Amino acid sequence: MKKITLLTIIGLFTSCNSSAQKTETKEKETFTITKTEAEWKAQLNEKQYYVLREAGTERPFSSPLNKNYKKGTYHCAACNTPLFKSEHKYDSKSGWPSFDREIEGNVAFGTDTKIGYTRDEEHCATCGGHFGHVFNDGPKETTGKRHCINGDALIFVASEE
Ligand SMILES: [Zn+2]
Repeated sequence: MKKITLLTIIGLFTSCNSSAQKTETKEKETFTITKTEAEWKAQLNEKQYYVLREAGTERPFSSPLNKNYKKGTYHCAACNTPLFKSEHKYDSKSGWPSFDREIEGNVAFGTDTKIGYTRDEEHCATCGGHFGHVFNDGPKETTGKRHCINGDALIFVASEE
C-alpha cells in the first residue's frame, strides 16, 4: 500500500517537470559564411565592424537609412543577405531604422555566441553579424514588433521601379 502512494507522488513530480517549456539548446550556432575577425576587419569599414562584429550600437539619428523610405530591400552589410523589405519599414521615431518584420529565415535571434547575445538580439542567419534588437512596441495594426536595426549593419538596394 505504501509503495503505491510513493509511486504516485513520484509520478506527479515527474509530470510537472516535463511539462516545462524546453528551450532548444543549440550548442553552437553555425553560419554559412565564416571569416576570421581580421578578414572582417579588412572587409568592413570601422562603423560596420563595430556594429556587426562587436555588437555595437550606432548613435541614434546618425544613419542616413533612418529616414530612407525608398522602395527596395535592406541587405546585410557583411554578406549581402536580404533582410528587410522597404514596405515593412516605418518611422518608430527611435532614431534607428525600424521594421515590423524581417525576411523570414534570413535573420536569427539571440543565441549564445561569443559576444553573448541576449534573447531579443537579432543577427544575420548567414554570417552571424549583429543587427540590433526586437521589441514589442511596434505598430499594433501589423505585427506589434519593432525590429530596431543599426543602419551601419545594412546596405540599401533600391528596387528597379
Ligand atoms: Zn550577414
